[in-house]
Amino acid sequence: MDSWNGSCQACGTSDCLLTKFSLGKDFFGRPYDRLSPSSDQNPKWYCVTCSVHKNLQRDFRDIRAEFDKLSAGQGSEISTADEFRRASLRLQEILAILGETKQQSPFLNGPDVTLLMERLNTLTMSV
Ligand SMILES: [Zn+2]
Repeated sequence: MDSWNGSCQACGTSDCLLTKFSLGKDFFGRPYDRLSPSSDQNPKWYCVTCSVHKNLQRDFRDIRAEFDKLSAGQGSEISTADEFRRASLRLQEILAILGETKQQSPFLNGPDVTLLMERLNTLTMSV
């Protein structure tokens, strides 16, 4: 499947350039290629805005997953101070971008991001 003549698979818009969504690496530099035939039979096509938001969602999920590991006392990508700070900054950035968008993101809720930031801050204080 090399072309998609429909609409954005997230928001449904059809009057803009659609891009096949490829992520490459995830937030922590691990391979993340959901378009490989072996790992994904259903490539998604998104408009520019939704592509941006999909990236935000991916980073948010990565950070939340690593935070959950950290708070459970397991090995985590954010167990070092540098990575922890980088993740915190990224969450602030995600929240800022969400705040700039007029329409509701199809992938992410601002309150979810705020909640994770609060949890991160709690952990910082207890360390
Ligand atoms: Zn869209």
